Order: sequence, then C-alpha cells, then structure tokens
Amino acid sequence: MQHLKNYINGELIAPLGTQYIDNYNPATGKVYSLIPDSDEKDVQLAYEAAAAAFPAWSLSPKEERSKLLMRIADLIDKNHEKLSRAESADNGKPIQLARTVDIPRAAANFRFYATGILHLSEEANIMENTAVNYTLNEPSGIAGCISPWNLPLYLFTWKIAPALAAGCTVVAKPSEITPMTAYLLSELCIEAGLPKGVLNIVHGYGHKVGAAITAHPGIPVISFTGGTKTGAEIARVAAPMFKKLSLELGGKNPNIIFADCDFEQMLKTTLHSSFSNQGEICLCGSRIFIERPLYEQFKKAFVEKTKELKAGNPADDKTRHGAIASKQHKEKILSYIALAKEEGGTILCGGQEVKVPGECAEGWFIEPTVIEGLSYTCRTNQEEIFGPVVTLTPFDTEEEALMYANSTQYGLAGIIWTQNLTRAHRVAQRLQSGIIWINCWLLRDLRTPFGGMKKSGVGREGGFEALRFFMEPKNVCIKLANSQ
Ligand code: NAD
Repeated sequence: MQHLKNYINGELIAPLGTQYIDNYNPATGKVYSLIPDSDEKDVQLAYEAAAAAFPAWSLSPKEERSKLLMRIADLIDKNHEKLSRAESADNGKPIQLARTVDIPRAAANFRFYATGILHLSEEANIMENTAVNYTLNEPSGIAGCISPWNLPLYLFTWKIAPALAAGCTVVAKPSEITPMTAYLLSELCIEAGLPKGVLNIVHGYGHKVGAAITAHPGIPVISFTGGTKTGAEIARVAAPMFKKLSLELGGKNPNIIFADCDFEQMLKTTLHSSFSNQGEICLCGSRIFIERPLYEQFKKAFVEKTKELKAGNPADDKTRHGAIASKQHKEKILSYIALAKEEGGTILCGGQEVKVPGECAEGWFIEPTVIEGLSYTCRTNQEEIFGPVVTLTPFDTEEEALMYANSTQYGLAGIIWTQNLTRAHRVAQRLQSGIIWINCWLLRDLRTPFGGMKKSGVGREGGFEALRFFMEPKNVCIKLANSQ
C-alpha cells in the first residue's frame, strides 16, 4: 500500500507521529493508499522551513520566481495523463473531466501567476511641488493555504501559485479526502528545482493540520476554500490574531431561466451547471427557477436528458457521471433527498443510490436527481447539498425570481438565461452573487475577480486581486527638497 508523504523543506518525509489515514477510491469504496495523519508538530516543522526560505525567496527577482513556476506548469502538462488518472481515482470524478478541466487548469494557474507577477506594477502618487509617494508591494510572509476535495489540484494550485509568485513561502494543506495530486505536485516541485522550504505540503485532518496552520502565530495570511462552517471557525481563530483572510465558501446558486432564452443552448448548459462533477462544484446552479410559460417544456426535456446521464466507472473514458467523493458525503446527500421528500417535494428522476457493476460495485454513486414542488424557503432550497441534486421552481415575474434567488444566506454565483439584453443586465445587477453568468456557465477568465458575497466568502481570488492578497502595500512618501 502506498504511503503518501509530507513535503517539508524540499523533502518527502513521513509524519512525525508516524500515524496514517486511510485514503479511499470512491468508485470502488476501497482503501488504496495511506496519507500522513500529521499534527501541529509537522506544521511547526513546515513553518520553520517556510520561515527559513522566506528571506531569499521574497527577495529573489520575480523573473526567477516566474521561471520556476513556469517549469512546474510544464511538468504538470508533461504528467497530464498521470495526474488526470490520479485525480479521477482519488475524487471519483470522470477521467474525461480531470483531463479537460482539472489538470489543464492547474497548469494554467501556475502560468497565469508566473506571468501575472511580471505585469504587476507599483503605484506612484504625486503631490505637485510637494512630495512623491510610491507604493511598494511586499510579500506578506508565510502563507497558509487550505483547500477542499471537489477540485483538488485545481483549487490547491489556485492558491499556491499566486502566493509563490508574490514572494510568499507557503505551508499548504490539501483535503484529507483527496490528497493524491497534491502529493504528486510535491514530486514535481522537487523535479522543477523549487528551492527547499518555499512550498511545504502537510497532509492530514482539518481539525489537526488545518487548525494548526490557522492558529500558528508565524503565519499571518490564510487563504481558505471550503465550507461556510469551517470558514467561520477559521475566522473565529484568525481574527483576534489580525490575520489577513481570504475565504471562499459554500453556495446555493440560482439558475434563472426566462421563457425567451435559447432553449437548446440553455438545456445543454443547464445539464452541466446542475450535474458536472456530480454537482460537487461550488458554482453549480442547484436551484433552477423557470419562467412559468416554459416550465412544463423545460421540465420534460430536462428530466429526459438527466435520465440519460448514467453513473459509471470514473476511469472509463465515456463516463460523464462519477462517484461521490466520500461515503460520509454520500450519506449527507441522501439525507437531503429524504428531507426533500419530507418537505413535500416530488422526485422527478434519480433520488437513489446506484450500484455500478464490476470493480465499482462497492462504490459511492448517486443518480442525478431532479425535484419539484418545494417552497423556496424550505431547507432543501436554502442549505447547500453539494451533490447531484437540483430543484425546479416556476416563477411569474422577474421580481419574484429575484426574491427567490436572493433568499439564501449564500451569494456565490448566479446564472441567467434570456435573450433580452436589458433584462439580463438588470437582473445581473440585482442578483446578490459575486459571479454572474449570462447565457453560459463556468466560462472563466482568470483575470476576473472570483468569490462570493454574504456567507459565500470574504475577499476575491483571481487576477491581480490574488497577488495583492499575498502582499502588503507599503507607501513611501518623499518630500521634495524645495517644497514648503
Ligand atoms: P471543508 O470546509 O470541510 O474542508 C475544506 C478544507 O478545510 C479541508 O482541507 C479540511 O481538512 C480543512 N479544515 C476542516 N476543518 C478545519 C479547521 N477547523 N481549520 C482549518 N481547516 C479545516 O470543505 P469540503 O467539504 O472539503 O469542501 C466542500 C465545501 O467547499 C463546500 O461548501 C463548497 O461549496 C466549498 N467550496 C467553495 C469554493 C469557492 O470557491 N467558494 C470552491 C470549492 C468548494
């Protein structure tokens, strides 16, 4: 059985406590590797390595940092198939998705920030005849990066790349549910020649490793992506220490479909925005609101298409609906389907755990599920399920759709389908979401601000925002010699 290792001070090492956690393949339900059950002692070791590496890394020319990050991106490309297979086996996602989305995006994250840092300019503010101000952007120090299991390498690198580009050194923790590609990344960092201690990856549980990173007095910046409840706990610990926080949290995203939309395009994309990655993408539109004249037509066509989406072995090229990432999460999703029934919902399709024959017979699969007949205020429509479950609700007016859409505590993403440009802009402005897609979904330009309002988060990732997050602006004011 493979034992994964922590990556500390440029080396792959066993956890100090020598304890390991079972790592499951969700498609087979079987343990296939072991990951370090690290604790605060391992985090301390990683911190010391990051602290020792910080002066040289933070002062290194950005061109040098850029070159190293580019090298890592190239190695990700070179290992594309190996990483895709690893991601699919670890997370349960279809191999086709890992190949086309997760792994290319991980390489893109490194390239984007490797080049981004070269284009970040300093500001100067001139006080005429009096003084010149210029603002330095200095790396904040040692950054803590904590990521979830749904897009493992994609989200892990989305934090690490800007932190390293900005000149921070990093103590990072991937999810204990999907550690494999972060481990493979540590091998690639060694191959790329990343100086020791610049990036340290500590594996283990959130309440041990994540909590130790959050509470560490020497780590002033925490970038976290995960659940809202965990985000609140991190904020509770970090706020009195005045740490800088970026929190990318949960969502319960509305998908608002007006009757004048391009029906075929909307139908195709809505299938993706509902069930991609088994609905385990924070940006999935799990509450579908349909203008009443279109409701029956949409329902019929959508349910028909959803029924065609069969769960299959994620390792199979043809599979489009894979396994749920963990047994515990599978139980949570099933409990929400049961709740939806209790709340008066009608299951139009799916609603069951499914068995995929062969080597996946013991895996964790749930059919894509469509539910109607629920009030917009019920728990099923207010709480994040984060699985292949969507609800359909008709609406009569734009005002009503907005009221439904904005009724949750979340504000991550919103989707709007209409051919009426004026309405599209109007609804986009009034939707309480950090990210809006009109007539599309998951179309991503890495330069744009990414993040949520309300309980979906604090701060924004993406573009220069992420680089600036890992930097402290320092203003230097010089009085001109001949001024009064
Ligand atoms: P989670 O909050 O359970 O875990 C996320 C990470 O935090 C893991 O690495 C975990 O080990 C760690 N962690 C757990 N407890 C911790 C603690 N006390 N201190 C520090 N770290 C701790 O989330 P998850 O179940 O892995 O991921 C699913 C959630 O992530 C969903 O709510 C989803 O919406 C959200 N998510 C948000 C975005 C976004 O960009 N807003 C993207 C992806 C996922």
